[in-house]
Amino acid sequence: MNPTTFSELNLPKALLQGIDELGYTELTPVQQIALPLTLQGKDVAGQGRTGTGKTATFLITIFNHLLSKEPKQGRTGQHPRAVIIAPTRELVIQIGEDAKKLAKHTNLKLHTVYGGVDYEKQRKAFEDGVDVLIGTPGRLIDYLKKHCYSLNRTEIMVLDEADRMFDLGFIKDIRFMLRRLPKYNERQSLLFSATLSHRVMELAYEHMNNPEKLRAEEGELTASGITESLYHTAMEDKVPLLIHLLRQDNVERGIIFINEKRDGERVARQLARYGFKVGILSGDVRQKKRMRILEDFSQAKLHLLVATDVASRGIHIDGVTHVFNYDLPDDAENYVHRIGRTARAGSTGTAISFACERFCFGLPDIEIYIKRSIPVEGIPETALDIGKPTHPEATAEGLKSEDRAAQHAKKPNNAGRPRRPQRRKS
Ligand code: ADP
Ligand code: MG
Repeated sequence: MNPTTFSELNLPKALLQGIDELGYTELTPVQQIALPLTLQGKDVAGQGRTGTGKTATFLITIFNHLLSKEPKQGRTGQHPRAVIIAPTRELVIQIGEDAKKLAKHTNLKLHTVYGGVDYEKQRKAFEDGVDVLIGTPGRLIDYLKKHCYSLNRTEIMVLDEADRMFDLGFIKDIRFMLRRLPKYNERQSLLFSATLSHRVMELAYEHMNNPEKLRAEEGELTASGITESLYHTAMEDKVPLLIHLLRQDNVERGIIFINEKRDGERVARQLARYGFKVGILSGDVRQKKRMRILEDFSQAKLHLLVATDVASRGIHIDGVTHVFNYDLPDDAENYVHRIGRTARAGSTGTAISFACERFCFGLPDIEIYIKRSIPVEGIPETALDIGKPTHPEATAEGLKSEDRAAQHAKKPNNAGRPRRPQRRKS
């Protein structure tokens, strides 16, 4: 029988205290099948539906190991005992925050590294020692090459969103890191995602020690509380249709996914003009701003987020009621990850997709992948008549042009502005 509560797992007291304070008592399905193996040190590739607690699965495994086993070669701060690799900066930050809460009553040292901010600060933190290192591949490799830390005594390696990490864009970086870790049979390797394909598993087997492939809740890939629908629409009708649905559906907190960064600005600007409080999350927005926009969105200062796939993987924000695929994603896995931003941790949500003449070609692949067809809705005749902008002057957070203007205004002695002639002192 698989355990169903955390108290059955024989975890160190300090860790149980962290789990308890987070309010977790029952194990989620993926935790039920993975933890009995991972806690014994076994390699696992774990697939579990979106929003069902995969993060806690690997974090609890790591903390249990570090608290109950002494390192073979003694402990030094520059040899992190565990390393977690994730594809986006926001996800690294989030895993770091979850880790901090779980490890609150331990004295383990955690460190997160990611691009776009605080290069020196993140580098200096290695000097204080690190037990668990969490990062994006770029920064991890950068500090590794600068000898800020070493991987040669690392006992546990985790790839979160593993299938994404084995994609073309990341595979070279991952291989670089894997080559510097202890041999596959001298470490524990853990992989997690809501979508793990055969191709990913083949790549994974090369680097793992006879891993167990686990899949919680066969069948669906996304959580059960999502209501999906699809509108066939012309490109030019997408903004009016979106605004109509936002008004009609009483959207409390919504993420609107677009495929290309430059479309994000246009869509967000339009939404702002119709009175919605909206921010943009894409690779074009400066990192500090990205973090602020995400914070404002989770505190409901912004109601909508127009985002690229930067936000499709792993990000957990409480109370996202709606996900819109303003553009249908090019690959089917991303459909699963995008709509998985709603209905997390047992809640419910709505996912609405637009199939326009440009991006509708992805639809058959998506429906084959999710093994069902998405219910099609008709567009009511009056839906596209949304009236004139109610807030013609309003703008969205994260617009590049606004960002530049704001920075420009901050600079003293603005170049280009004629200087007032200096009065000669008499
Ligand atoms: P995913 O499986 O998509 O990686 P996360 O790990 O981000 O999902 O978890 C989603 C949410 O579920 C988080 O808010 C997390 O705190 C919560 N959670 C995780 N494990 C449990 C549990 N055993 N009981 C209750 N909530 C949990
Ligand atoms: Mg996750």
